[in-house]
Amino acid sequence: TKRIGVLGAGQLGRMLAIAGYPLGQKFGFYGTSDDEPSALLGHMYKQSDDTNSLDKLVEFSDVITYESENTSIEQVREIAKTTPVYPAEKSLFIAQHRGREKGMFDQLNIPCAPYQIVDSLESLKLAVEEIGLPAVLKTTTEGYDGKGQFVLKEVSQVDQAWSEIGGRELVLEGFINFQRELSIVAVRNANNEHVYYPLVQNVHHEGILRYTIAPAREISAEIQQQAEHYMQSLLDELDHVGVLTLEVFETVDGLVANEMAPRVHNSGHWTIEGAYTSQFENHVRAITGMPLGDTSPRQPIAAMINIIGETGPVEKVLTMPNAFLHLYDKEERAGRKLGHINVIAVDEDSLYKDIQRLSDFLPKM
Ligand code: ATP
Ligand code: MG
Ligand code: MG
Repeated sequence: TKRIGVLGAGQLGRMLAIAGYPLGQKFGFYGTSDDEPSALLGHMYKQSDDTNSLDKLVEFSDVITYESENTSIEQVREIAKTTPVYPAEKSLFIAQHRGREKGMFDQLNIPCAPYQIVDSLESLKLAVEEIGLPAVLKTTTEGYDGKGQFVLKEVSQVDQAWSEIGGRELVLEGFINFQRELSIVAVRNANNEHVYYPLVQNVHHEGILRYTIAPAREISAEIQQQAEHYMQSLLDELDHVGVLTLEVFETVDGLVANEMAPRVHNSGHWTIEGAYTSQFENHVRAITGMPLGDTSPRQPIAAMINIIGETGPVEKVLTMPNAFLHLYDKEERAGRKLGHINVIAVDEDSLYKDIQRLSDFLPKM
C-alpha cells in the first residue's frame, strides 16, 4: 500500500481514488471544503483548518500528485525536499505557462501555431502585424475551458481585446485552420516505461469540451506514430512521471500542437470503461512505481459525453447496458462540469444511435 496525497480535491482526484483503491492505495486530499468531489474519498486536509494542513498531508503521503497545472511551483518545490512529487517540478513549470510550453514544442521540433508573447498594447499591435489575423489572444497562465481568450478577427478589435484580458502577460497565436481537434494521453513511469492511448477526437462548444470519440476515426498508423513520437520527446525531455496529455489540431499539413496538461485529462475519461487500463489507474501505477497497464480499447469505439451545467435525465443512462454514468457530486452551475457519460459500442453505427439517445446531454450546435 502506498499513500497518495493529491493537491486539490476535485473530480480528477475523485476518479484517481476510485481507480487507486482496488490497487490497495490510500488517498489524502489538500482541498478547501468538505463539499468538494474528493472529500469523502480519503483523508481531507483543509487549507482553512489550520496553517499546517499541507504539512500534515505531506506527512501522510508516500507520494504527492496534483490535479491542476495551476498548482504553485513554490509549494511543489518545498514538498519535494521531503516527499516525491510526480509529475515533478519541471513538467508543472513548463505546462503552466503557454509561452514556456510553446518554447518546448519549438525545441523538440513539435509544430505549433506561430506565436508571440506580449505585455502591452503596443507590443500586441506589433505582434498582430507580425502574425496576421485571425489570431487567438490568450493569457499565458491560468486559462481553462477557453477562459482568458479573445479571438481577434480585425485590427479594430485590438484595443477591446487588450482591455478585456490584457494588463498582464499574454500570448498571441496564429489561428489554426483545423479539420478536427484531437488529443493523446501518454504515461511514463520512473523505470522509463512509456504507454500511449490512441488519438481521440474532441468536440468543444463555447470553449468547453462537450464530447470525445475514441479512438478518433480514420487515423492512419503514421499519424498515431507521429503523435506518439511527439509525446515520447516531451516525456523524455521533462523526465515526466505520470500521465501527460497533448491537445493537437489536425490540419492538411499534419498535426499542430495546441497545449499540454501534466495530468489526467477530460479527453481521457473514456478510458474508464473504454480501455483495459484507465488513465487514472495508469497515473496511480506510474507515480507509485508499478508496471503500466494495457492502453488498448476494450471495444472498437467509445464516446465520452460531458454533463455540463445541469445534471439532466441521468436515469436514461442507467437503462442503457453499454452506457456508464459518472457523477462528480457537484452543485449545478452554468458551464460547470458535473459528470460524464461513457458509451462503448461494437461499431460506429450503434455508437451514434446511443449518442442520439443521449442527445439531451449535448448542446444544440
Ligand atoms: P482547456 O479547457 O482544454 O485547458 P484552454 O482554456 O486552456 O482549454 P485552449 O485549449 O488553448 O484553451 O483553447 C480552447 C479552444 O479554442 C481550443 O480547443 C480550440 O477549439 C480553440 N483554439 C485555441 N487556440 C486556437 C488556435 N490557435 N487556432 C484555432 N483555434 C484555437
Ligand atoms: Mg488548457
Ligand atoms: Mg485546451
